Amino acid sequence: MPPLAILGAGLAGLSAARALLAAGQPVRLFDKGRGPGGRLATRRVTHAGAEHRFDHGAQYLRAERAPFPALLAEAGCAPWPDAARRVPLPGMSALGRHLARGLDLATGVTVTALRREGAGWRLLHAGGEEGPFAGVLLTCPAPQAIPLLAPHAPGLAARLAPIRYAPCWTVLAAFPARLALPETLRGQGPIGWAARDSAKPGRDATQENWVIQAGPDFSRAHLEAAPEAVIAPLLAALGAPEPLFAQAHRWRFSLLEQALGEPCLLEGTLGYASDGCLGGRAEAAFDSGAALAARWLARG
Ligand SMILES: Cc1cc2nc3c(=O)[nH]c(=O)nc-3n(C[C@H](O)[C@H](O)[C@H](O)COP(=O)(O)OP(=O)(O)OC[C@H]3O[C@@H](n4cnc5c(N)ncnc54)[C@H](O)[C@@H]3O)c2cc1C
Repeated sequence: MPPLAILGAGLAGLSAARALLAAGQPVRLFDKGRGPGGRLATRRVTHAGAEHRFDHGAQYLRAERAPFPALLAEAGCAPWPDAARRVPLPGMSALGRHLARGLDLATGVTVTALRREGAGWRLLHAGGEEGPFAGVLLTCPAPQAIPLLAPHAPGLAARLAPIRYAPCWTVLAAFPARLALPETLRGQGPIGWAARDSAKPGRDATQENWVIQAGPDFSRAHLEAAPEAVIAPLLAALGAPEPLFAQAHRWRFSLLEQALGEPCLLEGTLGYASDGCLGGRAEAAFDSGAALAARWLARG
């Protein structure tokens, strides 16, 4: 049986891959990132010989319906900042690594185009091409999927057009001493959410590492700004002293503003799943991937 290609190894892609493989359908995953997990991401920064870790994407996970609660338990997630929310240890990216075990995953591969070949597909990337594949399931944010789908399935691409995400500028900062602030705070000037990342379970509690996310208005207004230009206003809004170091990361597609309203899409041998389908959270992305796998398997 020819394998299926899955573009994207975030929660939607990993969920689809696990379900397909469990049903006996071989799959190959491709992701442009350095590892699996997508927006469940952890960045390491070495400063003065010490490694600091920051969850610079998703902050915590809610698990409201099967199978996600059992999956988070199996992955060893711990409650934070309250009993209703969970975080993977030692960083958010650990969940992607857990889910990717046993899967055929190629990282560092940016797919630039799809090419039809007979009844199947090839994936093109800077280093060459992959395939043939029986089908391609795209699980990246909709604005990144549309240009890949449009030449082959304009109707499918058009159905993704209403899906919209907010951008999010995120500052990662380490401080020499504990800040007199609560563990998390919301809606303070341009800040949408900020958290003492080093207070999460399994992190290095001797460090004072903060993740400061700008709200959507600030992030949109500064979308094309240099990283240095967003650091100062966000640190000032936190009321923070001089950090040991600070970096900024821009997410062009962070939290969902407009969902598709369907669990997934499948047209012929091309499919789409992501948090853009049902709602902008990790659990919704996981459910969307599972729904797409079920749709593929049901086509016979
Ligand atoms: C700043 C921020 C804060 C968030 N906070 C929370 C939170 O607290 N709780 C929560 O539940 N959710 C949160 N989210 C949302 C959550 O991260 C997402 O809903 C979820 O991770 C989406 O999973 P996904 O698989 O749909 O997409 P992604 O995780 O984006 O995965 C898509 C993958 O596709 C890859 N890709 C894209 N284009 C290509 C290409 N051309 N070739 C190869 N690979 C490609 C990307 O590298 C990526 O790994 C947050 C997101 C952000 C950015």
